[in-house]
Amino acid sequence: MQSIKETKHRSPDWKRDFGERLFGILGRDGVIHSDDELLAYDCDALTGYRIKPLFVVLPRTSGEVSRVMKMCYDEDVPYVPRGAGTGLSGGALPTDEGIVISLARMNRIIEVDIPNERVVVEPGVTNLSVTNAVSSYGYYYAPDPSSQIVCTIGGNVAENSGGVHCLKYGVTTNHVLGLEVVLPDGEIIETGGKTPDHPGYDIMGLMVGSEGLLGIVTRVTLRIIKKPETVKTLFASFDRIEDAGASVSGITARGVIPAGMEIMDNLCIRSVEEAVHAGYPVEAGSILLVELDGPSAEVDAQMPVVEEVLRGHSALEIRIARDAKERDLFWKGRKNAFPAMGRVSSDYYVQDGVIPRSKLAQVLGKIGELSREYGLSVGNVFHAGDGNLHPLVLYNSKIEGEPEKALELAGRILGVCVDSGGSITGEHGVGNDKKRFLSLMFDDNDLETMNLMRCAFDWKGLCNPGKVFPTPRTCVEQGMKPYAEHPLQKSGLGEMY
Ligand SMILES: Cc1cc2nc3c(=O)[nH]c(=O)nc-3n(C[C@H](O)[C@H](O)[C@H](O)COP(=O)(O)OP(=O)(O)OC[C@H]3O[C@@H](n4cnc5c(N)ncnc54)[C@H](O)[C@@H]3O)c2cc1C
Repeated sequence: MQSIKETKHRSPDWKRDFGERLFGILGRDGVIHSDDELLAYDCDALTGYRIKPLFVVLPRTSGEVSRVMKMCYDEDVPYVPRGAGTGLSGGALPTDEGIVISLARMNRIIEVDIPNERVVVEPGVTNLSVTNAVSSYGYYYAPDPSSQIVCTIGGNVAENSGGVHCLKYGVTTNHVLGLEVVLPDGEIIETGGKTPDHPGYDIMGLMVGSEGLLGIVTRVTLRIIKKPETVKTLFASFDRIEDAGASVSGITARGVIPAGMEIMDNLCIRSVEEAVHAGYPVEAGSILLVELDGPSAEVDAQMPVVEEVLRGHSALEIRIARDAKERDLFWKGRKNAFPAMGRVSSDYYVQDGVIPRSKLAQVLGKIGELSREYGLSVGNVFHAGDGNLHPLVLYNSKIEGEPEKALELAGRILGVCVDSGGSITGEHGVGNDKKRFLSLMFDDNDLETMNLMRCAFDWKGLCNPGKVFPTPRTCVEQGMKPYAEHPLQKSGLGEMY
């Protein structure tokens, strides 16, 4: 079977000509082509995989994105959309025979519509900029990945990103109302809008979390919400991380849904304390951060319930933030947990799995057993309320065989997640890294059905190829025809259906 690469014979001058045509669309400053500069785009935050693309293009408008994609479509050139490159699953990893389409320069906030509680943005706007744009009106944008200072809304949409406050308010898909998308043949479509529940198929729902495989998002309409009247944040320390885990389901079982519940184990507490001095007790086996928000009367009624549950699970200390400054410090610690781990180990592998939160205590125990079996430390920091684990597997890349051992251990941890009724990813996506684990959850029929959906949008398989699916599957490789060339469509019958 032919691959896309083999379907076209490129002339020796092809790359130069293609580059010239990109200059024609984007101007000289809109195309990166020197080897040195291309290196900055050869990976995302999963730095273990690196590939240098042919070009990186920096469009400023949807029209430019469309013209570049149409050119790629006509020439069978694969491409990879890119936001800020903070993805942790290799989703923005380039392909060596294609280009990267960076949305970094499409970073305008197009409209702030307070009466309708909506904001319309370009995809390169950073997550935190949305909250900053509406904060003075008493509003904020709820999904808050820890990378929110730099990660983009386009990346958040593609990954359906979560964050520390997604337990109560939901993840990205619950806050996206409309999208403008450039399809792989260059066509620009709109789906959804400022009002919810549009008729017809939920194309917007399909796009959110599609990891850049179905098209490029060029405009996003977001829901913003009113800041709560009261916010109270506490942390409780425990000897055993299992007790912190059991407290999480204990709190929700009492009918309290906090805005966020986050757990950190001792390894993470120590590295965070060294890095940001958040005031966490370094001797504790683990801490659980709990944030309650809402009307003051409700928060005041819930706080004693939470404290009772925590004490019932052997909390050693419960510390409630005295003011907004201390609250920010508690969160600063949590949000810096991944980078802080660099102080303990120069190499670590961030995993992302989900489990039912009632299984937290049991699964954390199993992760401890696996860590001992492999002789590798595993730090645990995670969105406990959502059962979204982030085991950080520490290794030394200079020791022969250790990176492979770390990968194997991380895979076994994902197996434990799936066996407990969970999933191989909670918010970081499948990308390049976890496609090998997809078959833990889906059989061939499931994967073929997903692939049919992909082919309906991108029958050539040019849009972020090699990601998500265990093997590169394209319609071309499977001998399928594009919809327009389908016999039913050609006969005219297609129009009737
Ligand atoms: C320190 C750290 C903390 C993190 N914390 C969290 C967290 O709490 N929660 C969480 O969910 N994630 C977290 N992440 C992961 C990452 O930040 C998110 O996945 C984020 O949404 C990626 O955004 P980005 O702009 O960097 O996208 P990129 O990494 O550039 O791209 C991610 C994916 O989106 C695709 N893409 C990008 N833009 C578009 C577009 N406009 N149209 C179509 N596809 C597009 C890319 O092709 C790629 O597949 C963290 C990462 C780091 C490094």
